[in-house]
Amino acid sequence: MSSEANVVEIFSSIQGEGILVGERQIFVRFGGCRLRCNYCDTPQALFPQKECRIEKLPGARKFYFLPNPLTPVKLREIAFSLDRVPSIHRHLSITGGEPLEQVSFLKEWLPAVKDRFKIYLETNGILSGSLSKIIDLVDTIAMDIKLPSSLKGRSFWGKHRAFLQVARKKKVFTKMVITAQTAEREVLRAAELIGEIDKRIPLILQPVSPSGRVKRTPPPKILLKLQQVAARFLPEVRVIPQIHKTLKIT
Ligand code: SF4
Repeated sequence: MSSEANVVEIFSSIQGEGILVGERQIFVRFGGCRLRCNYCDTPQALFPQKECRIEKLPGARKFYFLPNPLTPVKLREIAFSLDRVPSIHRHLSITGGEPLEQVSFLKEWLPAVKDRFKIYLETNGILSGSLSKIIDLVDTIAMDIKLPSSLKGRSFWGKHRAFLQVARKKKVFTKMVITAQTAEREVLRAAELIGEIDKRIPLILQPVSPSGRVKRTPPPKILLKLQQVAARFLPEVRVIPQIHKTLKIT
């Protein structure tokens, strides 16, 4: 039986985070996420939505709406129709919410788009079993490391370790959002965990962008200190803010 997906929005934009920052991508934002990070900047994607917002032309920021859920055939058709500027979209970004919460759909749909795009998965990095089911269909994994200070003390060290063991079969980088509450010991523990699995995996420290309840980004002194701390375990630790927000490109 064919699966269907709850999708919040589909649009063309620049990748604002991580190692492919600045690259033009088509974004498919899936609805639903079990976590509640205190810096979450996609509250509209925490729950399944009745309608999916779809950009009419790449970069035009004019939208139409379709009722959810969407079939694999429909979602393929929409992604292909947005890819109308030659050679500009190298990756299809599968984001959320948490896309791996809809892994049955991804397993059916990704083979239908993989011939046209490379697949870039943005994930909270805790669903290793789901990742195993689609790892062969993914090219790059942007894996968040969720710190207890951003989740009311809840920790995911074991789940992150299991996830990274699967993810390292593909191109993967890790990313931590740094807030005013981030403790040095958390960054140290995360960097140690990543280094134990594979020291070549890059770590991006992403200073939180002010929005909603978040009033300001951490000061440069803190970012530089945390970079030094993580560098004890990893050779590639970079500080990269969300550039789409700086440029006001949504
Ligand atoms: S994992 Fe992502 S979508 Fe889910 S609450 Fe955290 S920031 Fe928001």
